[in-house]
Amino acid sequence: MTRWLAEQAWLPDRAAPTPDVLIEAEDGRFTAVTPLASGDAPHTGVEVLAEAVRLPGLTLPGLANAHSHAFHRALRGRTHGGQGDFWSWRDVMYAVAGRLDPDSYLALARAAYAEMALAGVTCVGEFHYLHHGPDGRPYDDPNAMGAALVEAAAQAGIRITLLDACYLTASVAGEPLAGVQRRFGDGDARRWADRVDGFRPAGPHALRGAAIHSVRAVPADQLATVAGWAYRQGAPLHVHLSEQPAENDACRAAHGRTPTGLLADRGVLGPDVTAVHATHPTSADLALLAEHRTGVCLCPTTERDLADGIGPARLMADAGIPLSLGSDSHAVVDLFEEARAVELDERLRTRRRGHFTAAALRDAATVSGHAALGWADAGRIAVGERADLVTVRLDSPRTAGVPPVGVFFAATAADVDQVVVDGRQVVRDGRHLTVDVPAELRTAVAAVTGD
Ligand SMILES: [Zn+2]
Repeated sequence: MTRWLAEQAWLPDRAAPTPDVLIEAEDGRFTAVTPLASGDAPHTGVEVLAEAVRLPGLTLPGLANAHSHAFHRALRGRTHGGQGDFWSWRDVMYAVAGRLDPDSYLALARAAYAEMALAGVTCVGEFHYLHHGPDGRPYDDPNAMGAALVEAAAQAGIRITLLDACYLTASVAGEPLAGVQRRFGDGDARRWADRVDGFRPAGPHALRGAAIHSVRAVPADQLATVAGWAYRQGAPLHVHLSEQPAENDACRAAHGRTPTGLLADRGVLGPDVTAVHATHPTSADLALLAEHRTGVCLCPTTERDLADGIGPARLMADAGIPLSLGSDSHAVVDLFEEARAVELDERLRTRRRGHFTAAALRDAATVSGHAALGWADAGRIAVGERADLVTVRLDSPRTAGVPPVGVFFAATAADVDQVVVDGRQVVRDGRHLTVDVPAELRTAVAAVTGD
């Protein structure tokens, strides 16, 4: 049994945090959550309170980073030399992808996931497509790269959903994979499914999920094979969707449908499906996503970095589409920044304020993200849920004087002070307990960039 006494804790279905909450956990699950002022605390004698670990500041549920490509962390600060767009950025990304092997990927992902832990992320959705050796030939263990990512999450102390991506073609028109892209491909969707079937992630911290890289990368007649695998497994299925207008144009030209329309036609959409980005949907696309109860993972700092555009977050929410958040390319790893960008980008677009409540932004960063990754029992500080806690300082230069309800508009990842994942402390006093994050990032990035 572990007990914490949170100065402030944000409990489910509350519009604002609650002061003085006693939180108890056993075997990685919350067993009691008691606001001391509620009069509902019969066993909270002096001894109980004396032994509880004090959590000064605001304690949140675990944050979920629902969209990650771990190796993109090596690109941070290296793609800003000139002009360009998503496509020119992608060329730089491919150069790094060409250099990774299972050992260097483990080191880089461990450091990247430990940075996430420091930022309060207790679960990552790793959208994984770097499957095979440099010439496209499978490793002896064809899931060696995925296994490295699962192990990296274990060593960083966070949970992972490995969203194994099917990636078969270089364009909507079906051009074959070339160059470094050959590392991504399994030949066809059936062989992708056979490989994924053979993978059993090691450890209770990991779940297996599926991904369709995009309508560029999986031919229309093979979409149902991937979706069917995910459906039969009860696994989450993620897909990059309409990040670029060019993808919409190419899909219309090839299939007479938007990417969303094509996915709907092929039976891909459903409640366990998350569309990543959905930056350029039509109103009919939004209606389809809503009708199928398909979620959307917004990645505002990446969409900003890559000049992608602004997704219609308020229209999505109004349609009943669940919203989650991801740091995607890791230009920034800060779920507070992602969350407030959902509101602030909407302000820039509409020149009006007040589109999302603080509680709605919290839900996108916590419970909705965990649900999108297949962890229905995480993201809320409530009895029976996984014991994830993220405590944010309210006495830092950024947060001093900020009311607890305002944290999503003020705090940064640097204000995260304590992180508990499944009842285990991973970050204490702002330091990762097992990983020297800056040193490991420096070494791991240098190993794959040649610096
Ligand atoms: Zn992505």
